[in-house]
Amino acid sequence: MIIDCHGHYTTAPAELGEYRDAQQSALAGDPEHVGSKGTINISDDQLRESLEGAQLKLQRERGTDVTIFSPRASWMGHHIGNAATSKFWTEHCNDLIYRITQLYPDNFVGACQLPQSPGTNLANSIIELERCVEQYNFVGCNLNLDPSGGFWSSPPLGDRYWYPIYEKMVELNVPAMIHVSASCNECFHATGAHYLNADTTAFMQLMTSQVTKDFPTIKFIIPHGGGAVPYHWGRFRGLADMMKLPPLDELLMNNVYFDTCVYHQPGIDLLLKVIPTKNILFASEMVGAVRGIDSETGHYFDDTKRYVTNAAISDAQREAIFAGNARRVYSRMSI
Ligand SMILES: [Zn+2]
Repeated sequence: MIIDCHGHYTTAPAELGEYRDAQQSALAGDPEHVGSKGTINISDDQLRESLEGAQLKLQRERGTDVTIFSPRASWMGHHIGNAATSKFWTEHCNDLIYRITQLYPDNFVGACQLPQSPGTNLANSIIELERCVEQYNFVGCNLNLDPSGGFWSSPPLGDRYWYPIYEKMVELNVPAMIHVSASCNECFHATGAHYLNADTTAFMQLMTSQVTKDFPTIKFIIPHGGGAVPYHWGRFRGLADMMKLPPLDELLMNNVYFDTCVYHQPGIDLLLKVIPTKNILFASEMVGAVRGIDSETGHYFDDTKRYVTNAAISDAQREAIFAGNARRVYSRMSI
């Protein structure tokens, strides 16, 4: 069994984008526009068609079994519009994921987007998390630590602002993948800089917070291999030492996990060497940020199973990374 803990619905039918365009048109005339949730007419056949030639095909070709599947991250766009915009959009995006998990229960398990909106509290996000976990059997959520889209106007993850969603995560026993969305700041390319900056920043924010002390069972996945953290592990350990913090193993590594969305063998080798095996979850983020073929290897960059298979680790370690750790972290998952 191979569980890919990080996949997005990046191939949704055009109707989803048209709904978003209509939202933005309404907002252009009135930034406070609320409107209603409305409907998006996408048939089951359209959903099947959008997946068969993409995520499902790649699962089969690469030999992975199940993907923890969430809405397209770069489209979460929490900065767009107001709280109502984000609520309706998020509900539709999560509804589609639920339908996919019903059509392909062996291939996809749901994780939700949250209807965050800059400058508002997390009340709507709590309601949506509860809806998706209790009604849709989703097993996790994506939490955006920068809903402004690259301008970092929200408080850091240690701030009490975030505590209501942490309380709900703990109550429901679901982890959050820390995941930003599109960048509106041209200094930060979305997938090449903003995502990786956010991953790195999230680790440091948690390190300098009381979050794991206040929520001893909370779980976060920092994607894209943990950003720059594994590569600079010595710096983070050294900073913890200077700040008189407990060692990182004690402070964070019962609560924080990194995925394997690192798109070359040396990067995966470093991740597996530096970070304890129990903290690493297999993931590819396909079909996602980097879709091409590596001219040096002849294989897809995001075919991350290949790197884990080729890494110099034991079979027991490989099994933990491919499935055992994900089952432990996404403990509501029944597959
Ligand atoms: Zn992602």
